[in-house]
Amino acid sequence: MFSTATDSMRSVFVELLVHGPLSRAEVARRLALSPSALTKLTRPFIEAGYLLEAAGEGPATVGRPSRPLQVDASRMSFAGIKLTADELFAVRTDLAAQVQRETSRPLAGHEIGHVLGQIAEVVDELTVPGRPLSAVGISLAGTATPGDPVVHTSPFLGWSQLPLATLVEQAVSVPTVLDNDVRALTAVQQWFGEGVGHSSFALVTVGAGLGCGLVLGDRLVTGQSGATGLVGHLRIDDRGPMCERGHRGCARAYASSPSIRRSIAATLDRPELTFDDCLALAADGHPVARRVLDEAGAALGQVVATVANLTGPELVVLSGESVHMYDVCAQAFHTALAGHTHWTSTPVRVAVKPFAFNEWARGAAVTALQHLLSHR
Ligand SMILES: [Zn+2]
Repeated sequence: MFSTATDSMRSVFVELLVHGPLSRAEVARRLALSPSALTKLTRPFIEAGYLLEAAGEGPATVGRPSRPLQVDASRMSFAGIKLTADELFAVRTDLAAQVQRETSRPLAGHEIGHVLGQIAEVVDELTVPGRPLSAVGISLAGTATPGDPVVHTSPFLGWSQLPLATLVEQAVSVPTVLDNDVRALTAVQQWFGEGVGHSSFALVTVGAGLGCGLVLGDRLVTGQSGATGLVGHLRIDDRGPMCERGHRGCARAYASSPSIRRSIAATLDRPELTFDDCLALAADGHPVARRVLDEAGAALGQVVATVANLTGPELVVLSGESVHMYDVCAQAFHTALAGHTHWTSTPVRVAVKPFAFNEWARGAAVTALQHLLSHR
């Protein structure tokens, strides 16, 4: 269906997927189409069961009432797979990115033969008999972009110039799309999350590292080589703690969850402390934990201000596995955000998005979906 659809047909479909259900009049208005052009563009989707006339009546119009159009989300399904250094997380989603099933397993190793075998296993596990997946998306930390079958670099998996998408397609016989993991999360926000209705926004993630995805003028930015949003090692303070790459006082050394945990555990000589223990100590006002979290919040605020100064987004979405640290460092975060925002601007609006770990795999599924609907 989509391989033969024209760009105009795709635009109508995506508009309804992201903003629907919408009346025909509203779709026509949003895309500056005449009613007859819209009818022509939607008819093939309705006939093939991709678009439905929603239950209930839309606003009364002259003549017969018009029922709003919506995408039938059950019409297609996607697998999303997130690879980390030691685990594989996977979900199956429908066309509206709703997770229908999820699974995970430890990676048996980084050797590509093992990983391919495990990918084939989860794709099989997620596939409903008789209903083939429309596409598989795979996301990982590193340099990979949709439309390019090659993982150029993946430091955690030790891969470079690996034609992963080609190999997976050969193994599972489903079209396969790769992307950087933070960009894949940004794709979820763009079509199904906080980014809906914003033509420019940034996603900043905190967790084992810091990441940034950008949508500027409705386009998810991939850059020339797929390496974008690399905010993790931005210099915050020359006198700060050291990161594992040997930078003194970079953002990652202040605000990644391993750095926060390590710093508090080492200062208190309590190696057993977990990251969440450290957050609890800070929330209780423990002076060492309080100082480390204040510094982490300030570093994060500086990163967000820098992203906003450079790109001028309408909104910054803050997310990632350790985004709940915001609750104990919000004041330091906003003070730094205001302090580092360019004097001609006002601090960017920030939306804090709670994080579930299956979001990474869901992002990979949305990458596959976006690629299928937006590219030929
Ligand atoms: Zn660094």
